[in-house]
Amino acid sequence: MMNAGRRIRIRGTVQGVGFRPWVTRIAREIGVGGRVRNDPQGVTIEAFGPDSALAVFVDRLRSGAPAPARVRELVATAIPAESADGFVIDASAAEGAPALSIPPDLATCPDCERELLDAGDRRYHYPFTNCTHCGPRYTIATGVPYDRPATTMAGFTMCPACAAEYQQVDDRRHHAQPNACPRCGPRLTVLTAGGQPVPDLDPIAFVADCLRAGEIVAVKGLGGFHLACDATRAASVAALRLRKLREQKPFAVMVRDLAAARELALIDDDEAALLTSPERPIVLLRSLPGTPIAAEVAPLTDRIGLFLPYTPLHHLLLHLAGRPLVMTSGNLADEPICRTNDEAVTRLGHIADLLLVHDRDIANRCDDSVARVVAGRPLLLRRSRGWVPRAVALAHPVARPILACGAQLKNTFCLAAGDTAYLGPHVGDLDSPEALAFFDEAVARMEQLLRIEPEVIAHDLHPDYLSTRYALSRGAPLTIGVQHHHAHIASAMAEHGLAGPVIGVAYDGTGWGTDGTAWGGEIMVAGAAEAHRIASFRPLPLAGGDTAIREVWRIALAMVDDAFDGEAPLDRLPLFHQVPLASVIVVRKMLRGGFNSPLARGVGRWFDGMGALGLGLAASAYEGRVAVAWNEVADPGEREAYPIAVDRTNMPWEIDPRPMVRAAVEDLLDGAPPAIVSARFHETLIQVTSALVRATSCRVGRLPVVLTGGAFQNPRLAEGVHASLTGDLEVHLHREVPPGDGGIALGQALVADAMARRGV
Ligand code: ZN
Ligand code: ZN
Ligand code: FE
Repeated sequence: MMNAGRRIRIRGTVQGVGFRPWVTRIAREIGVGGRVRNDPQGVTIEAFGPDSALAVFVDRLRSGAPAPARVRELVATAIPAESADGFVIDASAAEGAPALSIPPDLATCPDCERELLDAGDRRYHYPFTNCTHCGPRYTIATGVPYDRPATTMAGFTMCPACAAEYQQVDDRRHHAQPNACPRCGPRLTVLTAGGQPVPDLDPIAFVADCLRAGEIVAVKGLGGFHLACDATRAASVAALRLRKLREQKPFAVMVRDLAAARELALIDDDEAALLTSPERPIVLLRSLPGTPIAAEVAPLTDRIGLFLPYTPLHHLLLHLAGRPLVMTSGNLADEPICRTNDEAVTRLGHIADLLLVHDRDIANRCDDSVARVVAGRPLLLRRSRGWVPRAVALAHPVARPILACGAQLKNTFCLAAGDTAYLGPHVGDLDSPEALAFFDEAVARMEQLLRIEPEVIAHDLHPDYLSTRYALSRGAPLTIGVQHHHAHIASAMAEHGLAGPVIGVAYDGTGWGTDGTAWGGEIMVAGAAEAHRIASFRPLPLAGGDTAIREVWRIALAMVDDAFDGEAPLDRLPLFHQVPLASVIVVRKMLRGGFNSPLARGVGRWFDGMGALGLGLAASAYEGRVAVAWNEVADPGEREAYPIAVDRTNMPWEIDPRPMVRAAVEDLLDGAPPAIVSARFHETLIQVTSALVRATSCRVGRLPVVLTGGAFQNPRLAEGVHASLTGDLEVHLHREVPPGDGGIALGQALVADAMARRGV
């Protein structure tokens, strides 16, 4: 029979996931000769054999990739036949155009977990066990293609047993780049808070004992350090809060397994699937009453963020500690997560009583991801470990490589080239030199891994965001500012492959508007290149600017004074009993005189104001705290809404919540519980939003609708608007790209590309 040849190029997540061994196995099975290798774009196969066998081979490649691998694109072309002797894995090729197929880090697989706890296995209790189906990937990658020399495992030489597994095609560890064992791999060390090694002990057993005794331990993980303590000991959790300078923000808790999670929270099937997924995010769940978790873990909320062990080290630690552990990012307040051992001693030595470190370096910081289930499906609130650097496929390729620098808070950046975009890891709030250094370092590393030299740089219009300043300082051939809410809408378009135009609802706290007010309650008709506002919320003056976002009573005062024309019944509202009269007088003066009181249209501000009023909370310990509490308190059974007006005299129309505020105040004065008032507030927003989307759809046609912005992390609002529009319109919520500012960079990239094409 005549031999033929095919070159098969495959793109997707195909490196570091056992893809080449799988290709080799099926080639040998079918009787096809040739070779397979990693290249910077993914994997290239050259296969030789009878035409019929090659057809079967290509079919198998297309349909059956093993679990963590993802085939995005497969192109087969005919090449001259060769008389290949068998099928082999070739050395990787390093040349070629940019693309990245390093997979995200993967949670320990069931096989490795079994070995870890099997006293007869040579990897019994070895905290760095991994295989082609699991283990570190992105966090240890120092270059491409993803092969052992381009990881922080380069310095460890495999022992004969590990080397044999690595070379054996049928082995679960064939070409598992971080393959290691107790003889040849990384090792743990316990350090004192001062950085001195503590010799002669079993590190994990010792640390587990210390945790049980109430101590705080810095634990080196996959993408950074955690600070760990016993989640059932109030004194330990309180000490951690004090030392970490974190007053109220909830801490995430790691539990042994799903059964242990079910003892602490209400978990449905979708949430269970999310908890046990290989990405292993922190999942926001409804706490059960009366659990042993200390109240200090998540004060003033009935939600708890739980996650399951995702490295062998975590499995052992949870196993030996025998109780849930607080596992929070190893940092001080809002600084970036610690990466190196030295950094941990310097920065965490005064927080932790001791440190559990190891000698496998973390190349790339990557915080834990955070997710929740909304409208029956996962929604990412923070997209980092487990997802980074998974590609987002773009419906239309970008004309030139782009770096989008994101926003100021919850920052992530985005690199896009060709038809692929990559969101970087969660950098956090860009308000310290440390955070900016991390941002700088993460951008540089991602550009290096992707071999992208951005020709277009996108940024927010806010001149004071450090991400904007960074963008302007790069001196790229083209730098483009993108309006904040347009970017939110475009990020939802990009995630769902919508070319636009769409009707976009962008509700958040704050974003730079183009009319001198802060926006954040916007309904727009938007394409990639442009956006038009259809409706916006009536602005509220923020007395003292950002001070009002902490002292939310100032927003409540502005809100009721506006609604009651300055005649609000303050004396009968318990909130104002907490505020000194002198302060009320000063703030009223500021509001009336328009002194240092910028106008803000953000829906988040109405949540702040109504939450302060309804819950009697004068101050917010961190941004969004009062808004979240106001959401959580809402009675799920209450469906009534308050009146709300829409002023259609000018474009954009103005949503006027004053009638709602008056009705809510009446309810409160009548003694209505906050649960009812909050539910009615939510229903009002849902109704007015759906009505305006429908009205827009009548004017511009039945365009797809996207719901975006941080306010759509709120399940009641998201599910309500989604449910009320689904059926007659095509409605999209975010899923794998956060609705908040953590997802905005993707939209900036899309808009900047469209604007660049138009020759901005
Ligand atoms: Zn494994
Ligand atoms: Zn070994
Ligand atoms: Fe935003």
